[in-house]
Amino acid sequence: MVMPDAWTLRYDGFDPGQEGLREALCAVGNGYLVARGAAPESVADGVHYPGTYLAGCYDRTGSTVGDHRFAHEDLVNCPNWLPFTFRCAGGEWFTGPPERQRIELDLRQGVLTREAVVVDAAGRRTRLLQRRLASQAQPHLVALETVLTAENWSGRLELRSALDGTVANTGVPRYAGLTSRHLAPLGQGVDPDGTLWLEVTTGSGQRVALAARTRAHLAGAPTRLGRTEEFQAGRAAQLLALDLPVGTPLTVEKVVAVHTSRDPATAEPLHSARSLAADADDFGRLVRAHALRWRELWCRCRIDADFAEAGALHLNLFHLLQSYSEHSADLDVGIPARGLHGEAYRGHVFWDELFVLRLLDLRFPELARAVLRYRHRQLDAARQAARAAGRRGGMYPWQSASDGREESARVHLNPVSGRWLPDHSHLQRHVGSAVAYNVWQYYQATGDLGFLAEAGAEMLLEIARFWSSAAEYVPGRRRWSIRGVLGPDEYHDAYPWATAPGLDDNAYTNVLASWVLARAQDALDLLPAYRRDELAERLSLEPAELDRWQEVGRRLHVPFHDGVISQFDGYEQLAELDWAAYRRRYPDLRRLDRLLEAEGDTVNRYRASKQADTLMLWYLFSAREVRDLLRHLGYPAGHELMRRTTSYYLHRTVHGSTLSSVVHAWVLTRSDRRASWGHFRDALTADLRDVQGGTTREGIHLGAMAGAVDLLQRCWTGLEIREDALWLDPRLPSALGRLDLELRYRGHWGVLLTVDHRTLTVGLREGHQAPVQIRFRGTPTTVRPGESYTFRL
Ligand code: BGC
Repeated sequence: MVMPDAWTLRYDGFDPGQEGLREALCAVGNGYLVARGAAPESVADGVHYPGTYLAGCYDRTGSTVGDHRFAHEDLVNCPNWLPFTFRCAGGEWFTGPPERQRIELDLRQGVLTREAVVVDAAGRRTRLLQRRLASQAQPHLVALETVLTAENWSGRLELRSALDGTVANTGVPRYAGLTSRHLAPLGQGVDPDGTLWLEVTTGSGQRVALAARTRAHLAGAPTRLGRTEEFQAGRAAQLLALDLPVGTPLTVEKVVAVHTSRDPATAEPLHSARSLAADADDFGRLVRAHALRWRELWCRCRIDADFAEAGALHLNLFHLLQSYSEHSADLDVGIPARGLHGEAYRGHVFWDELFVLRLLDLRFPELARAVLRYRHRQLDAARQAARAAGRRGGMYPWQSASDGREESARVHLNPVSGRWLPDHSHLQRHVGSAVAYNVWQYYQATGDLGFLAEAGAEMLLEIARFWSSAAEYVPGRRRWSIRGVLGPDEYHDAYPWATAPGLDDNAYTNVLASWVLARAQDALDLLPAYRRDELAERLSLEPAELDRWQEVGRRLHVPFHDGVISQFDGYEQLAELDWAAYRRRYPDLRRLDRLLEAEGDTVNRYRASKQADTLMLWYLFSAREVRDLLRHLGYPAGHELMRRTTSYYLHRTVHGSTLSSVVHAWVLTRSDRRASWGHFRDALTADLRDVQGGTTREGIHLGAMAGAVDLLQRCWTGLEIREDALWLDPRLPSALGRLDLELRYRGHWGVLLTVDHRTLTVGLREGHQAPVQIRFRGTPTTVRPGESYTFRL
């Protein structure tokens, strides 16, 4: 793989070991669906995995592992729209790989191109040029154009094009023991104009319909193909044939419309798909309309940065814009941690949106709002979960999918030992604070009081109520404790000496809970009085409860040891790992938990973290804010605490999650600029280089992809949004010469920031909006539309 320029991902030849990764990185999508970049002639065979995933198309089914029976909801591998192959005059069907090939993903236009030469057993050479897209202009359309040129033969050419609903979810080997069939056939057929169609249903009753219109041109002129159909349950194929003269290009375009029974403005998905396919433009026009949308998208998220990895920056933004877009916003979907690019984590939504939304807040705030709306629709499920756990308020699930139920697995396979193990990751209650943080930050960036009043405040209040009800008073300490939880570092899920899972007083969880309790009160203060009264009445919020929130928020326990914040209470009783010995024994310690378990040991015994946990505090908040939060809780805190705590955990963290590098890059930015840049590059290229050793083929890591880009947007510009102002304190890493950004902020389309090592320029595009308050290193300046100011650094 190479990136010949900052907008092109290129693969020459075929490498079976890398094919799954290439398919994930070359996926094309539009926020409604994503199709992996698999070869059109391929089937799932351990090397190839042609998956297509529709946002929100989940299916609930059940599986048995040992004597454990459980339900799971999976993002469905939907019918494959892509199958397309050919053969020359009685030869073999082409099943790949070709003799030679070059595959290029054009990130600017969202088109995947493949040039190849196919030679059959009889030595007949055929040149193949394929282009495909998932339209950003018409999200229900995907299209594949194939140009075939016979180089040294002429004669009968047969083509086979299909819609295949017999596919299953087999993309993640670790899930092989689980039920993988989600689709059942409903019907297939062909319309008089030759449009081929297929309809299937998921086990949960969601219907998915596809309709394919295939047209051909010989040397640029429309040509009729001989046509027959082959149907089997769940699969519809079309055989096409013509006499191909040598050297004359035959262009075949397959335009496929996809609809489901869950789509807005759709009554009958099969009808919608058939009429859209029949009506669709030709491939050339589809490309033009699609490219125009991509141009708009790239303008909306412009980040000009002159550094060597600009290609990875574009690749990350490209996949983010394909995973969640304006076409996702009406679908009642969240942002799946692994995109719509594979089946890892079953397409579930985690806290990872915390790393994505800061980017969206300042670029596509309407999308950030749509993600928050998804969480708001699931508030009742969160309330139900809290009640079931004997708590009050809203307890958001660690993993969610279609309806807000907790979707976390209760067992997982350690591929190193081959053992199925209990999975306690659902005890990561901090996910609720991430939702609250996202609500608050969205409000700061947009000033959208309407959203806060309609939905945001209600979520904040219910999450605050949950924290208050989860806290227990410990008289001996005269402090409140939150017990039985996990922090972001999933390696520690129990005390080594305990029989029950969960840890007490995870510092990150407790400080965030205190922050949420305070912001809930702030949100109430911001609301118009009558809305505040309505909400208080609706939620039976009494003054005594607000007093308790204040009390808990000021007196939650935060543990310390050796002059650092302890990750959780009792952390200092854990043993030090013999890092040198383990590094000698294993080349890669990122999955230290699995290695230790396979040795009959447990990572719970050691001071070793999978990912940033306590350090998350300095990721979400500035040093001053962390200091104030800790002081609010009654703990002395200052710069030295941050320095010691950072260094302490840095040396004990293996970065088993791609999110970890984002956090470390951020936290180290002012103390160790070299290390910070290293972590930034790791995060930015995590998928491009598949740093987690083979996980990207199962789905991209959207949190790290977006979080890395956000380092450019907020971290090195020193951008914070608080107290109704944009605070700026830029400090570019030396590897970065200049940074040019254009943000949306509180109704402004075009807050222009230019930073280099000597100056910062802030400008506003012309408009009628209110002036923006800037605070450069704390000093206030008012910038009006059409004005710009330059500050010396
Ligand atoms: C990380 C979590 C993350 C999840 C989904 C896990 O490996 O530990 O923090 O939410 O992946 O990306």
